[in-house]
Amino acid sequence: SSGSGVKWNKAPCRFCGTGCHVQVGVEGGKVVAIAGDPKAEVNKGLLCVKGYHVGLALYGSDRLTQPLLRKGDKQVPISWDEALDIIATRIQKDPKGFALYGSGQWTIPEGYTASKFVKGGLGSNQLDANARLCMASAVTGFLATYGVDEPAGCYDDLDACDVLIMWGNNPAEMHPVLFSRVIDRRSRGEKVTLIDIGTRRTRTSAFCDHVLRFKPNTDLAIACGIAHLLVEEGTWDKAFVEANCAFRAPSEPATLQGKAITFEEYRALLAPYTPEHVEKLSGVSQKDLRMLAGLFGRRDVRITSLWCMGVNQHTRGTAMNSLIHGLHLLSGHFGKPGDAPTSLTGQPSACGTVREVGTLAHALPGGRVVAEEKHRHQMEDLWNVPQGRIPAKPGYHTVQMWERFSTPSDKGGDIHTLWVQVTNPAQTLPNRHKLVDPSRKLADKFLIVSDAYPTETTRIADLVLPSAMWVEKNGMVGNSERRTQQWFKMVNPPGQARDDAWQLIAVAHRLFERGFEGMKDRDGRFLFEVKQDGKPVPIWDFAHYYDVNVDAHLFEEYRKTTRIKHKDLAPYEEYVKARGLRWPVVQQPDGSWRETRFRFSGFDDPYVEKGRDIQFYHSPTHDGRAQVWFNPYEPPPESPDDEFPFWLCTGRVIEHWHSGTMTMRIPQLQRAMPSAYLEMNRADARRLGVGNGDVVTVETRRGSLELPVWLGGRGEPPEGSLFVPFFDEKLLINELTLDAHDPFSKQPDYKKCAARVRGR
Ligand code: SF4
Repeated sequence: SSGSGVKWNKAPCRFCGTGCHVQVGVEGGKVVAIAGDPKAEVNKGLLCVKGYHVGLALYGSDRLTQPLLRKGDKQVPISWDEALDIIATRIQKDPKGFALYGSGQWTIPEGYTASKFVKGGLGSNQLDANARLCMASAVTGFLATYGVDEPAGCYDDLDACDVLIMWGNNPAEMHPVLFSRVIDRRSRGEKVTLIDIGTRRTRTSAFCDHVLRFKPNTDLAIACGIAHLLVEEGTWDKAFVEANCAFRAPSEPATLQGKAITFEEYRALLAPYTPEHVEKLSGVSQKDLRMLAGLFGRRDVRITSLWCMGVNQHTRGTAMNSLIHGLHLLSGHFGKPGDAPTSLTGQPSACGTVREVGTLAHALPGGRVVAEEKHRHQMEDLWNVPQGRIPAKPGYHTVQMWERFSTPSDKGGDIHTLWVQVTNPAQTLPNRHKLVDPSRKLADKFLIVSDAYPTETTRIADLVLPSAMWVEKNGMVGNSERRTQQWFKMVNPPGQARDDAWQLIAVAHRLFERGFEGMKDRDGRFLFEVKQDGKPVPIWDFAHYYDVNVDAHLFEEYRKTTRIKHKDLAPYEEYVKARGLRWPVVQQPDGSWRETRFRFSGFDDPYVEKGRDIQFYHSPTHDGRAQVWFNPYEPPPESPDDEFPFWLCTGRVIEHWHSGTMTMRIPQLQRAMPSAYLEMNRADARRLGVGNGDVVTVETRRGSLELPVWLGGRGEPPEGSLFVPFFDEKLLINELTLDAHDPFSKQPDYKKCAARVRGR
């Protein structure tokens, strides 16, 4: 719109972890236009097809506008008052049987509210987020290597690298604006070598100089093979490693810390990973392996690695994350612009909310963990709740939480009330019918779901709560490069839809009114009390929530927790001015606030001691050293056999975000990609007598699904492999996927299981 009445304001895009900034045009109380934001460093004015249409995500015709309570087969409207009472009663009766399940789509203040509500208020650790299914292995990989979570590098590496290696990663579709940063450089005549190491041909492959196909799960063998060549050919960076690294290998019993080993032991463990052996295991040629090792062995090129779900959704995800970090450390390709191992996230605030705030069953805000007494006491003091309130034992991780909810109470199913916010687990949990019980057979279980639209999960809910979304509320999120971004509410939510934080605070207040001890602080005051001019503001009231900027209040409280791991955040007003700031953000002598682009690097990171090039100041071994891990290849939990001869991989497409709840309601995106499909190799299709558009049945040991075949669509899997996207609620591929998970991160593997295909 070019109408003069349009008011423009800034916000990050609602969808992926790239964190592009958009300009939002509002007129007549409605979002009427979206434009790229030229002031935004992340996207420099560009957006992908989802970003350009993000405003329409608010205006699907079936927004949820009032609370709904299940009565038999129907969900009937009730008031907020009744809904809050129902939830408060269930929690009051059985606080330990209550769990909250959220996601990296919670804003930072919402995630912080969730943590304070469950851990500080209920004295329980039954809080987890769907980021567990998304980047939990990235977290454990960072912790095992550097002793602290989140990348050292940032998106600036994409502007400076000579070589970009994408490990099981398809940024051309999943992080398209980031990918275009690199393609732009090429179109300006810069040379950037792109390497695709993956299990299927994707849109990214089409741009790459080298496309390496490997057999599923053998990425560990490839990484070990590169390390083996670096060591044997003496091309590893001895000076960097001697100054900054130590070596580690898996221990018995297995722990995230593993055991220390010497360089000679490391070398011996790598010895079996000769190019010949790795070629046999992985299918990647010796020539290509030598090419990769040759690049890592050079000091005159800068190498950036990118990865996301291909490495994280892996039963050996922690191990593979650590191996990629290890290759960069071993070869000294670390700590200079363009030389970085950088993991990407899928959700807009996987980093900001889940990892930094710590909305996971084992975590507390600011990088703390429930297992450490000191950390618990720090949070109990900040929240002003009695010491001992937070239990030391972690709550259930996602798969366990849903297992416990779907199991009868007399058979160990000790989660009785589950509240889901900002995610759609009935579509996205692996091995869905095992973990989610859509028939609602268990009478004593109660599912509460807050969402903006009807979803697979709201359909099976006992109580549905209508949520405000994106610019219908204030918010802050944190993207893949440690960038914290802020926006203000611009339009009203429809009907009675309310912020997720308001929903939690309103229930907390209902419990407080009933005298529930957990929602009182040490002085008997309400846990979420906000004061303005010395008087408490009733933010739990429908009408008063925006009397103060609740998000700013909660953020400033949360900010106090961020120093411990050097993840310092700036005051709220700095984020109001900026298009995001990357932490640590440290105040300068002139009073200004400076962000950090390259963590652990002396030239940029304020926490590195003067005179040092690199310092891993959160080293897991407390000696300033990062850990170069050896992790062996191991076979996957399920492989193709005579009965189920194909590999099945799942993932996303550029048009749709996550379970399609928002993007399938944007007509342009829905029309562009209206339904899920089965991608298969033409040779397999010929053998099975299957043509383009034919409907076939895909089956695994867990379920079956009829899908139309799309040959030569977005890409092509190699012979013996299948690919199905998961955005389509009518074609639930997660009925078929495997719930086997990584032993450390508990993240399931959605990328490989055994399947078969039957024509009609
Ligand atoms: Fe950027 Fe991701 Fe939004 Fe696309 S979906 S505009 S890449 S943040």
